[in-house]
Amino acid sequence: MIRNKEEIAKMRKAGKVVAEIIEKTRAAVRPGITTLDLDAVARQVIHERSARSNFLNYHGFPATICTSPNDMIVHGIPSSGCVLSEGDIISIDCGAIIEGYHGDAAYTVGVGEISKAAQRLIEVTEASLWAGIEVMREGNRLHEIGREVQKVAEAAGYSVVRKYVGHAIGTAMHEEPQVPNYWPGTPGPKLKVGNVYALEPMVNVGTPDTIELDDGWSVMTADGQLSAHFEHSIAITEDGPEVLTRP
Ligand code: MG
Ligand code: MG
Repeated sequence: MIRNKEEIAKMRKAGKVVAEIIEKTRAAVRPGITTLDLDAVARQVIHERSARSNFLNYHGFPATICTSPNDMIVHGIPSSGCVLSEGDIISIDCGAIIEGYHGDAAYTVGVGEISKAAQRLIEVTEASLWAGIEVMREGNRLHEIGREVQKVAEAAGYSVVRKYVGHAIGTAMHEEPQVPNYWPGTPGPKLKVGNVYALEPMVNVGTPDTIELDDGWSVMTADGQLSAHFEHSIAITEDGPEVLTRP
């Protein structure tokens, strides 16, 4: 899908709201806070900016953000019973709609002091996202993005989740085509100015295998090791990639 300048301008506005959710939830993360408290922070930003939530009620999802601690990869449901502790890591996935256009982003952060191993996982996962963003340029192929993500993650000894991937984004949060975070064996379509994608590597310390919990949402690493998740919504412009959700 090619988005025109007016559409990109609306997505920029949605991205700004998402960036504010990132900043405010990040500032709120500390030992003792619950993931439901973090959801309230995001809900308040959406309310103040007269945005709508693209997560709430998405296929029945009951909250404004996804909160996935430690060995949970994605799609965790905020809960008053999930209290963050010193040394945890927490992945927060968030989004917003402005004037019918969507933004979507995610990040992982440590709670208080975390281990060097956990810090390294977070840093490598974020670096893998930016390596992918760097090749989001007109004329490159869609699957080159994931190839770059995979290179960074695997060079650090980690694995990239295969089952959950990025996506085009616009008037719906999840549009076709998908954006794998690995080389799927074919180059994929050429990238064009006006394409907007949410790139979202999920990087595991151990194997890429996943397990879905009985709540129908929470996705865990199969081996119980840590996972991190970073995401931005990015427009391909004449001047290169524009990260719409950047705080
Ligand atoms: Mg997301
Ligand atoms: Mg996404």
